[in-house]
Amino acid sequence: MIECAHFINGTPFSGASGRSNPVYNPAIGAVEKTVAMASAEDVSVAVAAAKAAWPKWSKTPALRRARILDKFKNILWDRADELAKILAGEHGKTQDDALGEVTRGLEVVEFAIGAPSFLKGEFSENVGSVVDSHNIRQALGVCVGITPFNFPAMVPMWMFPVALACGNTFVLKPSERVPSAALKMAEWLTEAGLPDGVFNVIQGDKVAVNALLVHPDVKAISFVGSTPVAEYVYNTGTANGKRVQALGGAKNHAIIMPDADLEMTANALMGAAFGSAGERCMAISVAVPVSDVVADALIEKLVPKIKALKIGATTDEDSEMGPLITKEHLAKVRGYIDTGEAEGATVVVDGRDFKQDKQGYESGYFIGGTLLDNVTPDMTVWKEEIFGPVLAIVRTSSYQQALDVVHRHQYANGTAIFTRDGDTARNFSQDVEVGMVGINVPIPVPMAFHSFGGWKSSIFGDHHMHGMEGVRFYTRIKTTTTRWPSGQRSNAEFNMPTLG
Ligand code: NAD
Repeated sequence: MIECAHFINGTPFSGASGRSNPVYNPAIGAVEKTVAMASAEDVSVAVAAAKAAWPKWSKTPALRRARILDKFKNILWDRADELAKILAGEHGKTQDDALGEVTRGLEVVEFAIGAPSFLKGEFSENVGSVVDSHNIRQALGVCVGITPFNFPAMVPMWMFPVALACGNTFVLKPSERVPSAALKMAEWLTEAGLPDGVFNVIQGDKVAVNALLVHPDVKAISFVGSTPVAEYVYNTGTANGKRVQALGGAKNHAIIMPDADLEMTANALMGAAFGSAGERCMAISVAVPVSDVVADALIEKLVPKIKALKIGATTDEDSEMGPLITKEHLAKVRGYIDTGEAEGATVVVDGRDFKQDKQGYESGYFIGGTLLDNVTPDMTVWKEEIFGPVLAIVRTSSYQQALDVVHRHQYANGTAIFTRDGDTARNFSQDVEVGMVGINVPIPVPMAFHSFGGWKSSIFGDHHMHGMEGVRFYTRIKTTTTRWPSGQRSNAEFNMPTLG
């Protein structure tokens, strides 16, 4: 049995807690590895390593830091398949999807390599007579990343490349369900020349998280996961004097206007609702057709596509959708479909009927794609994040009614509109109270040089991730005002200076 350890000071570290957890392969429903579960003492070892490495790393020229990240990026390019395979084996997503995830993470590394440019400060000559002023962005110190199971490589890479490029050191606490990708990235960072202690991995659960949230040497925390934990991390972290950005859950709606290209929309919804078995924070889980005519025509197109979904293990090249992450999550998603039916939704395609009969995968955590029609905003399946391959249809009769459905939801991560009308699209993009908006684009995930984040209960904190928002989060501004006296020395001044 493989043991996934922590990674501290450039080397694997078993820890002293004596606790470990099983790591499952969700496609076969069996334990393949174990993962060490950190105690508060183990966390202190990791933070101490990051703290010790910080003075030198923060003073290393940004260009040299960027060159190390450039080497890491080249390793990622060369071995993307290897990383994708590792994470897909623990998560269950298809190999192509996993490769896409690695690529999106790699793009943040590409952005971070621009550190010498984006860390350039501002300079004002003569802010007063013979007085100049300049500001710079300086690193914070030890930064922490706490990440979810659904993107074991990409979400950590939303965080650490920018944090490291800015001169911080880092402790990553990945999800205990998918511990291996973080270790592989740590190994490759070391190979790229990153000094020991600059990037560390601590494995574990809430014991590790709680220790990180109150540790006096942790300066900033980036979190991605479910909303209740995001809110807890934000409240506890900020109460302990840390800078926190905490991204939470989602329920993303797509409005389908009567003039939409329905074939394109149906194909887009298939990928957005069922890709990665719906375990994406940017998954479209609610389609909001405007009019019954649109709803009926859309359902007619979706049903055969959902029934034809190829559901299988990541090792099967034909798979379009893999299993869910755990047995418990499978039971939860099935339970949501039961609840939806009991509350009056129409189960048009029922994923509960799916049986995986491929030899060796009978015990995997598979479920079929599900389509629920006649869902209304008072139903549990609309209110709560299901995080499974379940697409709900909420019928509306006007654009305004559709927009109101989007606005009633507590989550506001991503949304999309499908239309051929520029005026409607522009109004939607301007008025909708959601962080990431797609116009005929179902999963509007911003590129690395833009920033990722939702609004409302999908985020706690002021900064989105990566892009310049990431740079702002991982640095603080220092402004220096300078006067070089020439010749005559003046006496002390006790009044505020006036202009001129
Ligand atoms: P989760 O909240 O259960 O876990 C996230 C992290 O928090 C993990 O590292 C976990 O070990 C830790 N954790 C879990 N429970 C904790 C507790 N009680 N106290 C302290 N730490 C705890 O989330 P998950 O199931 O791994 O991931 C799925 C969720 O993440 C979904 O809600 C999804 O929408 C969300 N997500 C959001 C985004 C986004 O960008 N907004 C991106 C990806 C995933």
